[in-house]
Amino acid sequence: MAARSFDPTRKPPPFQGPSVDYRLARRAALASLRRGSLDTGDVCDAHPELMRAGKNIGEDAGMPCPVCSHDTLRFVRYVYGEELKRNSGRVVYPPEWLRELVTTCDQFTCYVVEVCVDCAWNHLVKAYVAGRRYGRSSSPVAGARRERS
Ligand SMILES: [Zn+2]
Repeated sequence: MAARSFDPTRKPPPFQGPSVDYRLARRAALASLRRGSLDTGDVCDAHPELMRAGKNIGEDAGMPCPVCSHDTLRFVRYVYGEELKRNSGRVVYPPEWLRELVTTCDQFTCYVVEVCVDCAWNHLVKAYVAGRRYGRSSSPVAGARRERS
């Protein structure tokens, strides 16, 4: 359960390598829900701050919520890093800020979370390392593996 729900007020789950994809964990959580070993109350527990971020600045996920099937699924990104100082742990907004960080910061981590602003389903989607040291791309995978030349 550790990597499922995202609490924006706590330190995010650590990960290894340039990026980690939480799709398998997401699928497992949804399967447990269908089997009945998890209750909607267990998975629809988005932190109030995450709900608020989803409502106000969340990016439309372009697919329905896997739990309530409403078109209310949003992506919210959070960034962490020593270089970010007091901005560490902040929601990425406006989206251009992420592009700016990629060119001004050596290294930071970004967590993408999906949250349903209707039923409060939430799950980590992916986490990745970005920054000048990792190429200029702000896309999650491209550039992440490139070494400094
Ligand atoms: Zn929902």
